[in-house]
Order: sequence, then structure tokens, then C-alpha cells
Amino acid sequence: MSTNQPPSLLDNSTFLTSFAEQKLLENFLRGTKLMKVIEDKTEQFINKYTASKKPEDARAPIVLDLTLHYKDLKERSQTLLCFLTFEPIEFLDSAKYLIYSLIKTIVKDSSNTILKTLHCEQVHVRFRFMGLPLEEGLVYDITPNSYPGGLAVLVCVLCAYTEPEFYTIQSIWYCTTGCQTNLIKKEVTKAPNCYNCARPMSEYSALRCMGKYRLLKVFPIRSVSTPRVFNKIFRSQIVHLKGKIFKKKKTNTY
Ligand SMILES: [Zn+2]
Repeated sequence: MSTNQPPSLLDNSTFLTSFAEQKLLENFLRGTKLMKVIEDKTEQFINKYTASKKPEDARAPIVLDLTLHYKDLKERSQTLLCFLTFEPIEFLDSAKYLIYSLIKTIVKDSSNTILKTLHCEQVHVRFRFMGLPLEEGLVYDITPNSYPGGLAVLVCVLCAYTEPEFYTIQSIWYCTTGCQTNLIKKEVTKAPNCYNCARPMSEYSALRCMGKYRLLKVFPIRSVSTPRVFNKIFRSQIVHLKGKIFKKKKTNTY
């Protein structure tokens, strides 16, 4: 078998090292307008701190909403497409550290020494993946008791949705006993402990950065199929949508 054959989308047997994954993703980002999005957001971050010189602006979050298209990935790197489709959580981890290093390189060239201590926790990458085809193995059927391990297409009937609610993108914590320690966290259910004195830390509540999400209640498409199905209960599913993904259209379709 030729080793030059590109892997098929459903062939998830190609394992890469973390470094190889990141190089593939870096090449992909540099070949698309996504690199420009990263550069622009970093420039905004640098300019805001340069104008204000406030220490809290040096700890501000850099939130990146990046849209990936199935077609682009298929044309440029099938290996990357397989990695994203079958290992989305690992992909997100790799992407976050790669994008952090790209931002660090841009910041390094700026003259603001305080910004050179940029933390990885300040970088928040949110991917939106579009165009996944309706192929066998990629369509998630709600009815059976099985859940997809990777990305999947959900074809469903929207039954209800909540008003936008808020979640914490980033919060900054300090030690009240004067340890000079700061901690950047995402959503937390209780105050983190200071790693120096182990006492609970307090939050700079004014620096908390929030995002929006909605919850959708959906039913499987077969629940409205023709002819009607009687004497059968269909199970609903709750879908969590963050950021700008949820867009209401005039036709009430999503
Ligand atoms: Zn402390």
C-alpha cells in the first residue's frame, strides 16, 4: 500500500505526535485568514494596554472565535481533518498551546515588557466547525443509547430554547494575606487556594470576563416523521451553545 495516500475521513488510525499536530495546524492557520484574526486580536490587546498602562489590561483575556470549514480542511490537510473529527478535545488542547505560542511571538516583538509575562490562561480559543457532511458514522442519532466520541452532525427538531445566560470566560484571583500571587481561572465553583499560603483567594470581580450561552431542547427528526409513530416516547436532548453560534433567523430555523 502506498504511504502517500491521504487518509480517508473515517480512517482514524493515523496517530501524530503533539508537535506534528501543532505544525499541521500552524501551516493551516497561516494559509487561511485565521492567522490574521489571531494577529488582529493580539494587536488590539497590545494597543489597549499601551493606551491605558493599567496592570489589569495586561491580564485581560484574549478571546478568539475561529471558524473552521470542513471543505478547507479537506483540501489542505486530511490528516488534520481526521485529528479534529475524531479527537476534538485533544485538538482543542493542541490548538490552544499553539495559538498561545503564536501570540507570545507577536507580543515579544512589542516594546511592552509587562506583556511578555502573558499567561496561557489568558488565551481563550473557541472553534466553530462548519460543513461536516451527512456521512455514515458522522451523523449522531439521538434515539439509541450511544454517544459520538468525536464531532458529529445532529439532525433534530428544535423544541425549546432558553434566553441567553452568562458563563465566566476568565476570572482573576488574589491572595488577601499579601502573598503577591495572582491566579487566572475559568469557571470556578469555589475560591481557589493560594499556592503559597494555602488560604482561599479573593476575586477581582470587576475584572471578570463573561460570555453568553443558550440551552436548546431538541428531539430526534424521526419523532415528526410521516407516517406518524404512535405509542412510542422519544427522548429529548439538551444542547449547550456558546458564543455567537446561536443565530436566530426569520424562519425560526437554527
Ligand atoms: Zn497567599
